[in-house]
Amino acid sequence: MAIEYQVLGRASGDNALFARVSTGQTTHRLLFDCGAGCLNMLAIGDLLAVDHLCFSHLHMDHIGGFDTFIRANYNRTSKPVRIWGPPETARILHHRLQGFLWNLYEDDPGTWYVHDVFPDHITAHCFEAHEAFATAHDAAERPNTGAVIETPAYTIEALTLDHHTPSLAYILRERPHVNVATERLAELGLAPGPWLKQVKEPQPDEAPEIEIGGARYALAALREALLIESPGGSLAYLTDFLLDDAAVARLVPALRGCDTMICESQYRTAEAALAQRHHHLTAIQAAELARRAEVGELILFHLSDRYRPSEWLALLGEARAIFANTRFPAHWQLED
Ligand SMILES: [Zn+2]
Ligand SMILES: [Zn+2]
Repeated sequence: MAIEYQVLGRASGDNALFARVSTGQTTHRLLFDCGAGCLNMLAIGDLLAVDHLCFSHLHMDHIGGFDTFIRANYNRTSKPVRIWGPPETARILHHRLQGFLWNLYEDDPGTWYVHDVFPDHITAHCFEAHEAFATAHDAAERPNTGAVIETPAYTIEALTLDHHTPSLAYILRERPHVNVATERLAELGLAPGPWLKQVKEPQPDEAPEIEIGGARYALAALREALLIESPGGSLAYLTDFLLDDAAVARLVPALRGCDTMICESQYRTAEAALAQRHHHLTAIQAAELARRAEVGELILFHLSDRYRPSEWLALLGEARAIFANTRFPAHWQLED
């Protein structure tokens, strides 16, 4: 039960993020953005099994590798393709899907749901491979109440930030882990057995009592006595936005205590005016946000291509002076 992640792409190129949430029984796969060439770093099995693709926004450097995703998944049968992004995502992806010649498609399986996330509501459009993705079918609209994706294993919250266009920050949180305090079994005079599964995993239509060794016990009382809850892992993905006072006021509580914060750092402090003008971050702004939100670690990515490799470590040093547990993705191999 853990979140594993991999920043995709190089220091000098486009980036993206891939994450795996494993429950022990099931592995869920999540992809954040599709920078050019980034998806080539993924095993094909992972690419084919992405449960949700979450776009921050659709500037070229975040969608340049999307053709690789389409090619792998356009007609998949294992599950629908589910995509999320800011307003206009469905319109733009509809054009992308129309950017190929489709023929002999009538028997193709494959259903795509593309969601536009507005601050207060979420719209969805459905596209079908057997229609050559020609029609954007209206799917259900619903209020945006915080977590845009909720599953029994994890939730994903999306926050709309300002990049001269809406840009979504995502916060992935595992559900709390529930374990049995086995040392308490003996105190209650109970022997372990298959009944523990019923205690651990509530069912909607369950009876209030279960039988153990010929005696009946109330499930609620057993849960109270035996189960221990511990927090699940958490991971934030933040890129391409203006960190003004309003953004700080929203992000600090939303990120509070997050294990890992993956955050753009386009610019060094000397280019703070440029960062402000283009609605991007400097490394020290990312570090200041990490410090104030008391996250576990900060991973910097999405660096401007204006810098030479020798300047990347200076940029990292600026961030570390404010938040010590800052690093670049390990595979960039920029540090000894
Ligand atoms: Zn951008
Ligand atoms: Zn960008």
